[in-house]
Amino acid sequence: MQVFKFGGASVKDANGVKNLVNVLNKTGYKNTLVVVSAMGKTTNALEIVITNYFNKKSELQSSLQEVKKFHNAILLDLFENEKHKAFKKVNNFFNELALFLETNKSPDYNFVYDQVIGFGEMVSTTIISEYLNEVGLKNNWLDVRDYIKTDNYYRSANVNWEVTQAQISKQFNKNVLNITQGFLGSDSNNFTTTLGREGSDYTAAIFAYCLNAESVTIWKDVPGVLNADPRYFENAQLLYKISYREAIELAFYGASVIHPKTLQPLQRKEIPLYVKSFLEPENKGTIVCKEVGLEPNIPCFIVKKNQVLISLSSLDFSYIVEDNISEIFKLLHLYKMKVDVIQNSAISFSVCVDNMYQNLDKLLQHLKAKFKVTCNENVSLYTIRHYNEAAINQLEKDKKVLLKQLTQETMQIVTK
Ligand code: ADP
Ligand code: ASP
Ligand code: MG
Repeated sequence: MQVFKFGGASVKDANGVKNLVNVLNKTGYKNTLVVVSAMGKTTNALEIVITNYFNKKSELQSSLQEVKKFHNAILLDLFENEKHKAFKKVNNFFNELALFLETNKSPDYNFVYDQVIGFGEMVSTTIISEYLNEVGLKNNWLDVRDYIKTDNYYRSANVNWEVTQAQISKQFNKNVLNITQGFLGSDSNNFTTTLGREGSDYTAAIFAYCLNAESVTIWKDVPGVLNADPRYFENAQLLYKISYREAIELAFYGASVIHPKTLQPLQRKEIPLYVKSFLEPENKGTIVCKEVGLEPNIPCFIVKKNQVLISLSSLDFSYIVEDNISEIFKLLHLYKMKVDVIQNSAISFSVCVDNMYQNLDKLLQHLKAKFKVTCNENVSLYTIRHYNEAAINQLEKDKKVLLKQLTQETMQIVTK
């Protein structure tokens, strides 16, 4: 049993879907589960639909039409006959979405978000499953919400492993080619939930864990895990082998090629994770497995843009110690800030955060009641794992460093 995951970039158009078939033909697809994300930038487009639904009703229909048009063009490229049932199935999903938007009464943004955003994956997997059938790769389309069960923490739901394991053991047929949605789950009332943006890698890991799969492969637009994001660094090099521990660290610091939650379930059952290029499926790519460290052992660079650096000092020159720090963390947790780095001295405390849920203003208001606050928005956080002098010099060149921190293996700077 092997689990494959194809992300949005791999199926961003009809050629991407055809290439997916090519990958399956080259690698073999016996006893395979294929997990697929929404096509291209569909999730972002649906986020605009959701924003419009709440704040700009006048643009709701046009934003919805964009999403429909995008998928319709792909359908027309893939199927010669417009009577093909794929058209009808996709249309049914869009009707279901329209009906939800018309009839929904819930003011809960996160709940509505998950009910709407999930259509990206429902539609992508439907198109791909129908196309695979069309070209002779008979497959079984699964609604992942019947398998992955979660709590109702919408937009970042937690997996209920016991129920999920039971559902998978009960219903999953290992002997056929299965295709299902990444990113989604459902709560005990069967409402759609999501596992967090970019969560489809995690979906693949959840299935692999529950099915005792032999391996997981995530197919990417890069040759594998590199020692830096090629969008921001020149001459990024391929890492052929990485330990689970090292991969967890890289993902934690923001190497966005692997979703951070993916590795833990795989590591627990020692299921290897391959990261490979969907354009060169025969190439080895990267293997993440039990070994130690990484090969080649070189510095790895990670960048997170659009972070926020908040610096606090006490209003009366009193020390910032345990009680204020615990209060600060309570607030960071309350406003769902993802904490990247902290640094504290006697009367000041700095924290670099990812303002994922746009709660910064509320947080600052709260903090200002207690502390003197300065806030730098739009800063970048750079991390080097396994740094050396040359790597640090290369990174710091021409940058204004606002905060710097070194531990044995990791160096971090926040820059403007
Ligand atoms: P998916 O289509 O599966 O969602 P993503 O776009 O999320 O794929 O991830 C692939 C991208 O991750 C690459 O195009 C690359 O820009 C970026 N990336 C960030 N860090 C790394 C890294 N260390 N190695 C390879 N790619 C990286
Ligand atoms: N479609 C979702 C997203 O764009 C999940 C994923 O791609 O992994 O975040
Ligand atoms: Mg992605």
